[in-house]
Amino acid sequence: MRKIILVLLIALLSQSFLMAQTVPSPKSHFGFNIGDNYQLATFTQTEAYLKKLAAVSKKVKLQVIGKTEEGRNHYMVIVSDPSNLANLEKYKSISQKLAHAEDLSVAEATQMANEGKAVVWIDGGLHATEVTGIHQWIESLYQLITRTDEETKRILKSTIILFVHANPDGQELVSNWYMRNSDTLKRSTSSLPRLYQKYIGHDNNRDFYMTNMQESKNMSRQQYIEWMPQVLYNHHQTGPPGTVVAGPPYRDPFNYVYDPLLVTGIDALGAAMSSRLNAEGKPGYTMKAGSVYSTWWNGGLRTTAYYHNIIGLLTEIIGNPTPSNIPLVPQRLIPNSATPYPITPQKWYFRNSIDYSVSLNYAVLNYAARYREELLLNIYTMGRHSIEAGSKDSWTLYSKRSDAVAELLKTEKVTGNIDSFQTTVFNKVYKNPANRDARGYIVTANQTTTAIDFINILIQSGIKVAKANANFSVAGKNYPAGSYIVKTNQAFRPHVIDMFEPQDHPNDFQYPGGPPVRPYDAAGWTPAFTMGIEFDRVLDDFNGPFETIPYGLIQKPMGKINASATVAGYSFSTKENAAYYAINTLLAMGVEVYKNKDQYYVAANTANKKLQETIESLSAEKGIIFNGLTAKPANMNDRIMPQRIALWDKYGGSMSSGWVRWIFEKYNFPFQLIFAKEIDASNLKDKYDVILFVEGAIPSLKPEAGNGYEEKEPKAEDVPEIYQATLGKITAEKSIPALNKFLQEGGTIITIGSSANLAYHLNVPVRNALVEMVAGKEKSLPGEKFYIPGSVMQITLDNEYKANWGMNKNADVYFSASPVFKLLPDAIARKEVVPLAWYASDKTLRSGWAFGQSYLQDGIAAFEAKVGNGKLFVYGPEITFRGQTHSNYKMLFNQLYK
Ligand SMILES: [Zn+2]
Repeated sequence: MRKIILVLLIALLSQSFLMAQTVPSPKSHFGFNIGDNYQLATFTQTEAYLKKLAAVSKKVKLQVIGKTEEGRNHYMVIVSDPSNLANLEKYKSISQKLAHAEDLSVAEATQMANEGKAVVWIDGGLHATEVTGIHQWIESLYQLITRTDEETKRILKSTIILFVHANPDGQELVSNWYMRNSDTLKRSTSSLPRLYQKYIGHDNNRDFYMTNMQESKNMSRQQYIEWMPQVLYNHHQTGPPGTVVAGPPYRDPFNYVYDPLLVTGIDALGAAMSSRLNAEGKPGYTMKAGSVYSTWWNGGLRTTAYYHNIIGLLTEIIGNPTPSNIPLVPQRLIPNSATPYPITPQKWYFRNSIDYSVSLNYAVLNYAARYREELLLNIYTMGRHSIEAGSKDSWTLYSKRSDAVAELLKTEKVTGNIDSFQTTVFNKVYKNPANRDARGYIVTANQTTTAIDFINILIQSGIKVAKANANFSVAGKNYPAGSYIVKTNQAFRPHVIDMFEPQDHPNDFQYPGGPPVRPYDAAGWTPAFTMGIEFDRVLDDFNGPFETIPYGLIQKPMGKINASATVAGYSFSTKENAAYYAINTLLAMGVEVYKNKDQYYVAANTANKKLQETIESLSAEKGIIFNGLTAKPANMNDRIMPQRIALWDKYGGSMSSGWVRWIFEKYNFPFQLIFAKEIDASNLKDKYDVILFVEGAIPSLKPEAGNGYEEKEPKAEDVPEIYQATLGKITAEKSIPALNKFLQEGGTIITIGSSANLAYHLNVPVRNALVEMVAGKEKSLPGEKFYIPGSVMQITLDNEYKANWGMNKNADVYFSASPVFKLLPDAIARKEVVPLAWYASDKTLRSGWAFGQSYLQDGIAAFEAKVGNGKLFVYGPEITFRGQTHSNYKMLFNQLYK
């Protein structure tokens, strides 16, 4: 009997041992194969699967890289041969050292490249409705740890793969939404009730130099501080009609600050990817002019990598669990260098896209395995080039320089022989000392805490920053201790230049005199401008009492309380954005707060212990400088009071509204979301004092014929009850009268961007400034004459005027098809409208591309209008753009108090 039990026990034990060694297939875990029709995996299921894989496979290391905005675990799955995983720190250190290229000779770097492993980043699911992304990720992960072919073994030996889940919250939302119908034919990922990233949805791929969102912070840390992968592959959906997948290389322009090795590195990987599909008989890959993607813009998961010498790859692939068809697109059937192997119309299944994606991942990984040393050495070489360029006089080949040379060739008199003439002309521009790239930037101390926010976005992106530990002077100017120094003699120099300098987008037209070619995203963005940072460019080498901050170490602002004895209250600057956090906190405590142009004043006598503690913590945490006063200053008569604030949003979620929601939370503003139905049905003034409409909320007065793109809204009965109140749209028939009534009764409405339409609905005495007269009729300026596709422009303000208190005389704003106005002079005289900001010259471009910018001159960017007993504030530019335009926030915040 005992013997039998023993035998049974051994059998059981060995069986469970064997089971523990078996990697569960997706089917055994999820109940379906990845790529099966009508099946999507949720994040909860995926997380459980990752844990199982990590428990049984020696080729897997599961790492939590942070939390998501909704509080889920954010995972990175490191996959490699067990012998590599045992030495992970060593390989990480090699990858870091080669990427930084600091104090590393070519011989040492070559030796390290020889020893190191290629590090490849593969993500999935960033845009959660692009469901191929996370499913190819699960399938590729499974195949890499279970396949035993020679190629897989070679890949695992030679590379370390960072499988990064790019959006856990989104996968949970979208998969549950798709799977909620038991009838498979009713399953769809469309009409999602809210954004698939808590605040910003699809904009989660536009946050990567700014790193506002937790997910961006988590991933940037792995990319630019921890691992520095040599190759990064970012999966998206969908391919252009008549193709399967669009991928590298991409169309021009690329950004002029890149190392040429980066550009040819993208070419090489692109060739490996398309060749793989061609060899496997998988048609339908398109590249270059075959798709709209360029490599100009910074801010995407793929593109911010370029500014760090990382070969960023992005594919847009078709595919959905609900089967579809490859449509018939005649021009896609002609083979050319963009699409060498066209696909013909056919039925298309989810599994086809999964197979393509696995092939593309293998193409990238196989390349990385075979060219391991080159990839490692190339990132070092790019870093070294950057350090060299930042250590001597250098001239970036901007397109404006080429334009300047072309102009000189036309205007200069030819003297001497042609060669020496050309040399003279070339040198006049490209060797002009004034045109040199900066050796570094000094961000002076003694400015607002926004400077610290800016320094932190650099630090979160792996930039080397130093801090002065004593006063110093450079080029005859004195700087205080605590100033930050960002030099360009560092590996990620392209990113440094990009954060401080204007982007010089070329004039890009379909043909001379023809319509413009739309950039893939912004043409100009320069955060140092839109955040309003005070800094100096230094053109010569400079040194001082500078202490290098360890990579990734976040900086805290230094607050202060200047109070020696008993005080009655404190004053603090209106220039400081963080002041709004303080005001909102204090107002919530019921404290009296006053304001004049330069200062706030909070009544907080020393006896009130709780209030004193709050003041102390606001100073310590937010960096606010409080000045103790023995009495309320005489010129401090404006008491400010909290208002009942409503922020417009819509079914499915507006990204612009989500950004403001995030900003409001960050600055501690109390607010409620408001949707069209409530606007139409309520007496608004009973509930709210201020309503904010971001771009896209208010329809235009006369929707132009043929321009009637209407977003489809689901039927109420198809929407879960909790979301039904969010259905509906702002209409001229119902909503505008309700808003008019709200204003008449003394309410305040603020509009941003295209929601300026409200002013036209309400017959406010303003006109569109961007028009011309054609045959006696007013027409919008055509793209051949005026085109600003997302650039930084400068506005001028009257900062004595109350609505603008705390602002500088000028501010850099993000202009994106932004409305511009003319105010009628007699209306200004009657004080019905007050201009708040305007474009003061014919050259207000600060960064990007503004063709025909002279049309902006004297155009009004923002105004205030009296409507009944209420006020309408209209801001043309995107003053809350993607949580970046810190220098504009006061224009909004000031209007949120009584
Ligand atoms: Zn996408």
